[in-house]
Formats: sequence, structure tokens, C-alpha cells
Amino acid sequence: MKQKQGVALVVAGVDAGSTAIKVTLYDGRRLLNRMAPAGWNPKEAAAALLQKTAVEWEMEPTALDGIVGTGYGRNGLSFVTRSVTEITCHGRGSAYLQQGCRTVIDIGGQDAKAIRIDEQGRVVDFVMNDKCAAGTGRFLQTMAQALDLDVAELSEVALAATEACTINAMCTVFAESEVIGLLNRGCSRPAIVAGLHRSVANRVGAMAARVSPIGPVTLTGGVAVNDHLRQELARNLGLPVHSPAAAVFAGSTGAALIAWDMATAESGKRTMPGG
Ligand code: ADP
Repeated sequence: MKQKQGVALVVAGVDAGSTAIKVTLYDGRRLLNRMAPAGWNPKEAAAALLQKTAVEWEMEPTALDGIVGTGYGRNGLSFVTRSVTEITCHGRGSAYLQQGCRTVIDIGGQDAKAIRIDEQGRVVDFVMNDKCAAGTGRFLQTMAQALDLDVAELSEVALAATEACTINAMCTVFAESEVIGLLNRGCSRPAIVAGLHRSVANRVGAMAARVSPIGPVTLTGGVAVNDHLRQELARNLGLPVHSPAAAVFAGSTGAALIAWDMATAESGKRTMPGG
């Protein structure tokens, strides 16, 4: 195993989400992103993923120059240098991943948030729904199961729809019964999935309106890979919505960039005469 070379700094961001752990390693130039399920013990899953990612980088995790933890489970991470809120990390990470981004919409496994940021990725305003599963990845997971689909198939199925069913239920449990009722009445799965995406977009769009979103909007979180939902959100907001390739890593990227700021400030202090 190689030890860290010379004085080069390497830092990590760890996003302990409700569904998945995301790790980003950063040395000022190169980013390495890795993800693993959070499972029943997110703390152990996060430590294991950090270890695995560091090994892939060819270094020991103990040689890292700083680790910033974020996400739902950040307070359980004993190995981090500092914990930073998801809002701050998503703002910073999204500004890095998508140039010009001024509003972030993050749809994760258990919550959804809208964040307005300035040109530097600093948070100006935010709003969050972590009280209700509707409008989150969990809602789509439950509906996919009811339709005997995998979440990864939702976008493709909806893109084949020629119409969207109206989903009236505002609650996940009632929406599941409504979906089963629609199937029994002979509605097509594409039309139902398109309707579900529209319902999530309407809900998230109404929440995002509270921060007076301005474009371009960056969609982050696990749900960001769902292109049909991204299009529905753009339609609802009347703004361009982009989802960068590493959208699911926005939080861990922001955490790594904050760790980088801390490490470089610290190493500057160390190299100052008399420091
Ligand atoms: P967390 O940070 O809370 O762990 P993530 O941002 O990692 O959450 O997002 C996880 C969620 O993304 C899960 O609920 C999963 O169902 C959802 N998801 C993943 N892929 C898709 C997809 N193609 N369409 C819709 N939802 C998806």
C-alpha cells in the first residue's frame, strides 16, 4: 500500500444518506466517487466504503487530511473531522457540478429539499420536506413495487406514455391503493408512472416555489437519474432543470470541497513562518 506522496493533500466527503452512503475523495484536481447501500448499520457501511475508496486511491484512510461528514446519518460518524449540514454541502457540491446553478432541488430516499444559492454556492434560502414520504424517492420505490417495476425502469416506462393518469392521493399509502385501482381499471403502466412523476413534480414544485427558484436548476439525489421526472419538474417550474452525471454525489462532493478548504487553510498555517 502506497502512503500519501510528498505534501499532496487528499480529503474526503462522506454523505451518510437514509438509503445510500456516498464517498468522494479529492486532491484539488481529481474526484473519486463511490456509493454503497446504507443497510442496517449506516455508520459501519460508511466506514467500510471510506476504507474501500481510500484503498482504490492507493492510500490508507488514516492518511486523509480531513473528512467532512454530511447527510441524515452524519452525527453517527465518529471518524469525521467535522459534520456539515446537507443543505450547505448540496449547495456547494451543486455549484461545483453544474456551472451557473442558482437553485438546487435534491430528492433523496427520505426527504426532498429546495436550496437557493449564490454564485459561490453559498446558501441564500432553503426549504425541506422530511415529514412525509410523498415527493421523495421512498414514494417512487413503493409505487414501483406496486407496479412490479424496478425504480431504475420508471423513467423509460414513463417516457413511453402517451398520457398521464391523474393521481389524487396525497399520501403514499393511499396512492398505492389508487395505483392498484388504476391497474385494475385497465390503465396502462406508462400512463400511471407518468402520473406518479407528475404528482411528485407538483409536490416538489410547490415546495420549491417557497424559495422563489431561479434557473438554471440542478436536480440532485438518487432520483436525479430519472429523466422523465426531471422533465416534469422543468415543466412544473417553467425553468430549465439539469441533472449532472454525478448528481447523486452532490452532497459528498460539497463535503469534500469543504474538507479541502479546511485542509488547505490548515496546511497554509503549518507552513507559515513560526506557524
Ligand atoms: P439518501 O441520500 O437519502 O440515501 P439518495 O439521494 O441516495 O438518498 O436517493 C435514494 C433514492 O433514489 C431511493 O429512494 C431510490 O429509490 C431513488 N432512485 C434511484 N434511482 C431512481 C430512479 N431511476 N427513478 C426514481 N427514483 C430513483
